[in-house]
Parts: sequence; C-alpha cells; structure tokens
Amino acid sequence: MTGKRSKTNPRHANGNLRRKYRARLKAQGGPCGICGGRLGPIHYDEPSDAAHPLSFVVDDIRPISRFREFGYESREAAAQDWGNLQAAHYCCNAAKSNHTIGEMRRGSRCFPAASDGDW
Ligand SMILES: [Zn+2]
Repeated sequence: MTGKRSKTNPRHANGNLRRKYRARLKAQGGPCGICGGRLGPIHYDEPSDAAHPLSFVVDDIRPISRFREFGYESREAAAQDWGNLQAAHYCCNAAKSNHTIGEMRRGSRCFPAASDGDW
C-alpha cells in the first residue's frame, strides 16, 4: 500500500527507487511491454536515446503526468508503483508518450507498424 510518509527528499528517494526498478527490469530482460516484442527484443546494452530506437527505457504503464486520473495520490505514488512499470523500447515509449496502450490502439496515432524502417 502507498501512503508511506518519508522525511527524506521525495525526489531523491524517488530517483533511487527508479534506478533500482530500472535495474530490476533490465535484469528480467523481458520483451517490450508496448509492442509486445513485435519490433524484436529490447537492446538492453545500448544507450537509451533516439539513435537507438530499440534500446531500453522504463515505461510508465499509466502515464505519471495523469496520476489523478488513475487513482494515485501523487506523482511519486505513480512513479514508485512497481506494478505500473514495464520495460519498453525507446521508440515505443516515445510513440506512446503520455497515453496508455489502450488509447494508442484506439487512436492508432503514431504507433509504428512492425516494420524495421527508418523511423
Ligand atoms: Zn516495443
């Protein structure tokens, strides 16, 4: 359950936790939670930037910027919810932006087709 109050700087604590979660997702080495592996495995060893579209990023399943909509009491609560995190490709995460996967499918906006193109 959330609701834990901490005297430490929440931003700092959040950063540490996010790093830990990132390491855990990387260790699990699972497929991209957004495309479900349609674009191939995540390239965990590559730097996470636009030059490496299949590189690894931590995706917030329910966008943190919209935490209220999803019942979180704060941005931190959403950011620290392990159940709200999944591994994803850099490019899939960028296409998803602050939408949910359901919204992406409904709107089909800018979700890349599963072709290894130059996007
Ligand atoms: Zn993907």
